[in-house]
Amino acid sequence: MSSLNSTIYDCIIVGSGLSGLVTARNLSRLGHSVLVIEAQNRIGGRMYGEYLPSGQWIDRGGQWVGPTQDRFLALLDEYKIRRFPTPLEGKKVLLFDGKRYEFDGFFQGVPEGEAPKVSEKEWSDAMKAWESFEALSQTLPANHPIGNDDHYKKLDSQTFAQWIEENTHTAFGKWYFSYMSRAVGFLGPAEPNQVSLLHVLWGHKSASQGEHPEAELLHGGAGQIPQKIAEELVNNILINEPVIQINQNSQGVEVQTTKGKYSAKFTVVAMPPHLAGRITYEPPIPSLRQQLTQRMPMGSCAKLLISYDRPFWREKGLAGIGFGNCKWIELCADSSDPEKGVGLIATFVVGDRYKDWCLMSEVERRSSVLSDLANYFGEEALSPVTYNEVDWPREQWVGGGYAAFMPPGVWTTFGEALIAPVGRIYWAGTEMANRWAGFFDGAVRTGESAANSIATLL
Ligand SMILES: Cc1cc2nc3c(=O)[nH]c(=O)nc-3n(C[C@H](O)[C@H](O)[C@H](O)COP(=O)(O)OP(=O)(O)OC[C@H]3O[C@@H](n4cnc5c(N)ncnc54)[C@H](O)[C@@H]3O)c2cc1C
Repeated sequence: MSSLNSTIYDCIIVGSGLSGLVTARNLSRLGHSVLVIEAQNRIGGRMYGEYLPSGQWIDRGGQWVGPTQDRFLALLDEYKIRRFPTPLEGKKVLLFDGKRYEFDGFFQGVPEGEAPKVSEKEWSDAMKAWESFEALSQTLPANHPIGNDDHYKKLDSQTFAQWIEENTHTAFGKWYFSYMSRAVGFLGPAEPNQVSLLHVLWGHKSASQGEHPEAELLHGGAGQIPQKIAEELVNNILINEPVIQINQNSQGVEVQTTKGKYSAKFTVVAMPPHLAGRITYEPPIPSLRQQLTQRMPMGSCAKLLISYDRPFWREKGLAGIGFGNCKWIELCADSSDPEKGVGLIATFVVGDRYKDWCLMSEVERRSSVLSDLANYFGEEALSPVTYNEVDWPREQWVGGGYAAFMPPGVWTTFGEALIAPVGRIYWAGTEMANRWAGFFDGAVRTGESAANSIATLL
């Protein structure tokens, strides 16, 4: 690789997640020379997966796509990746405070169809608060909620937990919003006492569950995409080379890794802000940006993928979708590819539940997850064919999932440094998106935007 060192690239892209790969591909298509440098021994970041012996794929990171995620959908169409509707047919299960409810509707914040038969008082408490939440969210801009605005500042001075406390009056109502924050995630996920009310409201405005971001799954999984993009970038991707320092002057940038130094006219750092903050910059980046990178933690989230010889829950009229305040599993979803015949449940252990779960032994972790799944779908859940867990906070080059969130005060004090370039250094990554931040679509958008900015300068 040392021969690369004498080349001066048009742009070096640091990080080979979806945002970095899209940046590099788009610049390369315009005839610019690029080099992608990745810390891990694989490309893709939060977008990667594998095939099970049964032929069913599993996505260890993201997997779903929705109908209004048009930049990601365009990418899927371009690579001819086929999609199928997320299996929804059958009754959903709500487990709340030890009681079990089967119902024909659905809710991820936005309620649809039949409601679970919790008491009228509990349901209307959640629904009334949901209306207030939606109305408040609509007072926010389509773009990032930054700047010296009293309304944003007021919302940013509170945690979501405070809003929940003031606006809900039943245990169910309180759980309904906590579950949304913690398990579904408003650009998070985050425990309500850790996240800014402004962040959550803006998350709902710019990436609403009402637009069904989990409507479809991909045959072969999202994990196949990085390799498809990389095919256009042959010989221009280095893996296993963490970037440790970026120097810049009026002529260009020098990117130093654990193995060598590479020169370019510009660089795009394509990763969550806290990881960008680990790199040393010379001259130092502005203090607002430096401080921002200290204030955007990743959500606490492990993803579990559990496969069965068949989707046995359908034989009982169940959809394979569960919500509830169980000990470990608050959300689980049928992710079976209809062309494979295998049953696959994707689920998560999130927030404070994750904190306790990750300290248990492997055997305890597995049995805790399976026993919650058995409460949702029956005893058959205890006997999977495969069980895979991905402990995202342990992945040192990502540090959590699904994405980073902002605690109180961060948007209105440091938010303007989120996307502002610093000389020849540009930023990409889903966290920087002003639409669908935290999702694949947001990553594509920031990759496209970074490539456009650099191409204009070149
Ligand atoms: C469990 C989970 C479930 C999710 N579910 C969905 C979903 O269903 N649908 C959806 O749309 N989105 C989902 N997401 C979010 C989606 O995966 C991300 O939004 C997207 O993949 C982020 O891409 P990125 O390029 O912004 O960042 P990343 O994928 O994080 O890429 C950053 C890259 O930078 C590299 N890097 C870091 N530091 C350095 C360094 N110093 N030097 C070199 N390289 C470095 C990292 O190794 C990584 O490869 C999920 C995420 C997780 C974790």
